[in-house]
Amino acid sequence: MSELSQQTSDTTLLTINGMSCAGCVRSVESALATVPGVSLATVNFAGQTAAVTGIAKIESLVDAVQGAGYEAKLLEDESLEAQEKDVMATLKKAVAKSVFALAGGLVLMADMRIGYLPSLDATLVWSVLGGLTLVLMMLSGGHFFRGAWSALRHGATTMDTLIALGTGTAWTYSMFVILVPEMIPVESRHQFFEAALFVIGFVNLGKALEINARSKASLAIQKLFDLAPKFATLIGSDGDRLVPVEEVVVGNQLKIKPGEYFSVDGQVISGHSSVNEALLTGEAMPVTKQQGDVVSAGTLNIDGSLVIEAVGVGATTKLASIMRLVKEAQNSKPEIAHLVDRITAVFVPIVLVIAVVTAALWWLLGPEPRLSFALVTSMSVLIIACPCALGLAIPMSIMVGLGRGAADGLLIKNSEILQVASKLTIVVVDKTGTLTNGAPEIIEMKGLDQGQLSCLHALESRSEHPIARAIVEYCERDLTDDVSVQDFRNHVGGGVTGRVDRRMLVIGSAGFLQQQGVSGVPDIDEVGTLVCVAFEGEFAGHFLLRDEPRVDAAEMVSSLKRAGLRTVMLTGDRRNIAQSVAHDVGIDEVHAELLPEDKLNVIRQFQEDGELVGMVGDGINDAAALTIADVGFAMGMGADVAMESADVTLLSDSLGGIEKAISLSRLVLRNIYQNLVAAFAYNLLLIPVAAGVLYPFTGTLINPAMAGLAMAMSSVTVVFNAGRLRFS
Ligand code: ADP
Ligand code: MG
Repeated sequence: MSELSQQTSDTTLLTINGMSCAGCVRSVESALATVPGVSLATVNFAGQTAAVTGIAKIESLVDAVQGAGYEAKLLEDESLEAQEKDVMATLKKAVAKSVFALAGGLVLMADMRIGYLPSLDATLVWSVLGGLTLVLMMLSGGHFFRGAWSALRHGATTMDTLIALGTGTAWTYSMFVILVPEMIPVESRHQFFEAALFVIGFVNLGKALEINARSKASLAIQKLFDLAPKFATLIGSDGDRLVPVEEVVVGNQLKIKPGEYFSVDGQVISGHSSVNEALLTGEAMPVTKQQGDVVSAGTLNIDGSLVIEAVGVGATTKLASIMRLVKEAQNSKPEIAHLVDRITAVFVPIVLVIAVVTAALWWLLGPEPRLSFALVTSMSVLIIACPCALGLAIPMSIMVGLGRGAADGLLIKNSEILQVASKLTIVVVDKTGTLTNGAPEIIEMKGLDQGQLSCLHALESRSEHPIARAIVEYCERDLTDDVSVQDFRNHVGGGVTGRVDRRMLVIGSAGFLQQQGVSGVPDIDEVGTLVCVAFEGEFAGHFLLRDEPRVDAAEMVSSLKRAGLRTVMLTGDRRNIAQSVAHDVGIDEVHAELLPEDKLNVIRQFQEDGELVGMVGDGINDAAALTIADVGFAMGMGADVAMESADVTLLSDSLGGIEKAISLSRLVLRNIYQNLVAAFAYNLLLIPVAAGVLYPFTGTLINPAMAGLAMAMSSVTVVFNAGRLRFS
C-alpha cells in the first residue's frame, strides 16, 4: 500500500501551496470540509498548512484542494531541507516579479518627469508600450489574475479579485485612451500603465517580505528540533557499524560517544554520562544518566560514552511527538480568529461596492476631468482595501508565540488555551509532587515493631503513592521474610487496606482510619504528614513525614503574585503541614484534608464565582482536576497521561514555567490585538481617503501606486510586530 492511500485517523497536517490571501483560507477550508469523513479542517495562512481531523483518504484530501485551485502535500513527507528549498524558490520568484514590475513602472514614470516618449496620440508607440506593459503585468502579476478567476468560478472574491480588478481597469482604460481617444473627454486622456505596474510591484514586494518572515517563523520550531543526527553507531555481533537512523529498529543497541546527539529514544545499558536535555525541557543544566535511565532523541550526550537500547525510533520518539503537538497547536485557531474570518469573507464584496459607489459619485458630481478622478479613486480604493494584513494578524502571532513557548519548554496544546490563559485570575496548586519534591521523608516512627514493618512493606509496595514509596524504603531496613498479601485496596486520598499474613491492615490518614472503623486513633499534633497504622482494627502506631518544598516554589508563587494572580493550595494532606508548606512558599490560601472529589468541588466553586482557574498538578493523580480547570498545567514529561489531560505541559519540570506560560499568553494576545488594530484601522482610515473624502477640503488624493505601497507596508507591519514576540 502506498503512503498516499493510507487511511488517516485524527489529525493530518498538509502543506498548501498557492494561497495568496486570507480569502483563500476559506476556499481551502470549505473544499476540505466537503470530503467525506472530515470532521474539521483548519487552514493556517501564515504557515501555509492545513490540519484535517477525521477519517479520510489522504489522496481525496489532496484532490479536494486541487479542485479548489491549490496544491496540497502531506507535511511529514517533507524534510527540513526540502521545505527550506521550497521557501527560497518562492521567495526568489516573488522578489524577481517585484523587481520586473517596479523597473517597468520606473521607466514610465521617468517619462512623466523628463518626457522622452512621444505624446499619447503617437498611437503605434503607445500601443507597443501598452503591449509590453501587459506582458510585464502577466509575468509579475499573473497569479493575481489566475487567483481572481478561480475564485470567481467558485463564486468567491478574494484579495486577488481586488488587485486584478484595480490593475486590469487601469490597463484597459489606458488602452482606450490610446486606441479610441475620441471616446474619452480631452481632459481625461491619461495613461495609467505605470500605476498598474507599481501596484503589482509593491504588492509582490510586500509578499516577498511576508514569505520570508512567515517561513522563518514556521521553520524555526523545526530547526530547533532538527538536531537529532542522521547516523547512529549500531553495535552488532560483527562489530560496530555506522548506519542511517532510518535503519535503527526498537531493540537495537547503539553506542553514543561524548559530544554526540542521541538519534533515538533509548534506555542506558551501560556507561555513565551527563546529558543536556535543553532541547526537550528548555533547561540547560546537565542531567546525569546511568544504567537504566531513559534518554531522548535530540538531547546531547556531553562527557561520557554510553551504550543504549533503542526504545523509540523515528515518529515514535518523544521529540517527534512534541514536534507534532507544537505544529498542530500552531495550526489551531483561537475563537477570535473565526470572527476575523467572517469579517474577511464579507470585506471584499463590501469594498467592491464602495469602489463602484466612489466611481459613480466622482463621475456624477466630481470636478473635471471627471472620468480620470473616478478611475483613480476607485482604483485606489480597490488596492488599498486588500485584507491581507488582516489574514496575517492572528496566525503570525500564534505561530511565533507558540514556537517561542516550545523553545522555552512550554508545550501549549492549542491557541485557544493562549486566549484563556491570558485571562486567568486564580492559580490552584496541588501540594504533593507539585509544590514539594514528591519524595517525602520519614521524620518519626512510633509504635511499630519489626514484624509489623514487614507487613507494611508488603502492602505499601503495591501502591504508587509517594508516601508509600517512602514507607517501603523505610521498612526495607527491617525486612524479615516474605509475607502473603490478599484483598489489597487503594483508597485514593485516604490510604490503603489489605490482609497481610491473614491480619487486616489499614494504613492512611487519621480520618481514613476512623472511617474504616479503627478504634483508639490518638490526636497527634506534631507538624508533618501523618500516616497511621492499624492491625485488626486496632491503632498500632504512626509515621510522621515531611516533603520539602521545591527550590523554585517560593519564586513561582511570588512571580504569580506579581502578575496579579491569586494563588491557592489544594491538598489531601493535614492542615498543619499544609499551612507550614504554604507559609514557606508564600501561599495565603490553603484548602487541606480534601478528598479528590473535594478538589474538583473547590475548583468548580471558584468557577461559579466567576474566576478563571488555572490548575497545576503532577498530572497523574490530578487528571480530573486538570481537566475541569480552565487551563491545566502538568509538570514534566513523566507520563503521557499528563500530556493528554493538560492544556500546558511544562517540559522542564520547573515551576517557573507557569508564570512564563501565562505571561507569554498575555504577550501573544496583546500582540494579536495590536495586529488587528493596525490592520483594521489602516483599512478603515485609508479607504475613505482613497475614495477622496478629503479632496474637497484639502485636495488630498492617494494615487493607486501609493495605495499599493501602503498596502504592502501594512502586511509588513503586522509581520514584524509578530516577530517581536520572539525577543520580548
Ligand atoms: P495530596 O493531595 O497531598 O496529593 P493525597 O490526596 O494523595 O494527598 O493523600 C491524602 C492523605 O491520604 C495523605 O496525606 C496520607 O495521609 C493518606 N494516604 C494516601 N495514600 C496513602 C498510602 N498509599 N499510604 C499511606 N497513606 C496514604
Ligand atoms: Mg497528589
